[in-house]
Amino acid sequence: MLALQKTEPRQGVVLQEVAALPEPAGREVIVTVEATGVCGTDVHIAHWTPGYESMERAMPVTIGHETCGRVSRLGPEAPPDLMGRRVTIRPSVLCHACPACLRGDEDNCSGRRGVGIGRNGAFAPEVLVPAENCVPVPDGLDAELAALTEPLTVCREAVDTAQIRPGDRVLVLGPGSIGQGIALFAEAAGAGDIVICGRDDAARLDRVRALGFGQVADSLGRSLAEALAPWTGDRAFDVILEATGAPSVIPEALALLARRGRLVVVGIHPAPAQVDLTALVRNHQQIRGSYRAPVATWAEVLAFLQADPERLRAMISHRFPLYRAEDAVAMAGGKQASKVMVIQGERS
Ligand SMILES: [Zn+2]
Ligand SMILES: [Zn+2]
Repeated sequence: MLALQKTEPRQGVVLQEVAALPEPAGREVIVTVEATGVCGTDVHIAHWTPGYESMERAMPVTIGHETCGRVSRLGPEAPPDLMGRRVTIRPSVLCHACPACLRGDEDNCSGRRGVGIGRNGAFAPEVLVPAENCVPVPDGLDAELAALTEPLTVCREAVDTAQIRPGDRVLVLGPGSIGQGIALFAEAAGAGDIVICGRDDAARLDRVRALGFGQVADSLGRSLAEALAPWTGDRAFDVILEATGAPSVIPEALALLARRGRLVVVGIHPAPAQVDLTALVRNHQQIRGSYRAPVATWAEVLAFLQADPERLRAMISHRFPLYRAEDAVAMAGGKQASKVMVIQGERS
């Protein structure tokens, strides 16, 4: 079968013929893939930015982890009612052997392997996963929408980490699909003003407006403070959520944050950021990191998708067939794209 793989610890990904998957064993299943989103992680893996060295022992490995499909084969011990079901896949495969797993604290497994990172993923016709990683998709949600679940769990976790209170003034840095999802969940959490800022980001800011957020700024050629001056005259931001991965943004963001404000860092940063800790202390500010969401978030995000599917479809800017998966990753790395999907089945 055709698969988009990372084969060597250097720049690039390659679409190539690989062996068919083995039959599922035990509680494993095979999912016939319908739609898989291109994540910022896939772009980082293709560019081989630092932080993904642990993938080396899995290479060659098929990438792609934001996926939805139908269960098409069951291992002998997999739950029979999964057969034929449309599912989205939680990419984090537990080891069931580390101290956290053994005490039932599975959200903190230290031996996990990510589908599409540490084991074969979904830029392929089929993917093999444990049945416990399959999350049934509610009726009425099509595959490309359900494939948004994983990135939206990241967004929801960021907003939960920020502890947004009704009326909070929120700034979202980075208008890509993670920034867009963060804005949606901030709105649902009752935020007051939600301002979204990009840098040289006309196409993605247009998509932000299409999602219903009218307060946008572009900091091209000026500082963040200058770009956001229309909103910061009398009051700083209570919460800033950063989804740019640009270390230089962190000190600029702290300067726009209110006393006792929270800066939540979601981007993956290729280098350390400089922080004036004395100012942080005197302003009683907090910097919080946010990453993978707990298992319980998945059902909440699927319900969120089901409540307003057509609004969320606006996050998807481009669709490619599997045989153009390399182009899909290249597109996702550029500033024209919001969520790029590799579509392998019918859209319904
Ligand atoms: Zn992702
Ligand atoms: Zn474990």
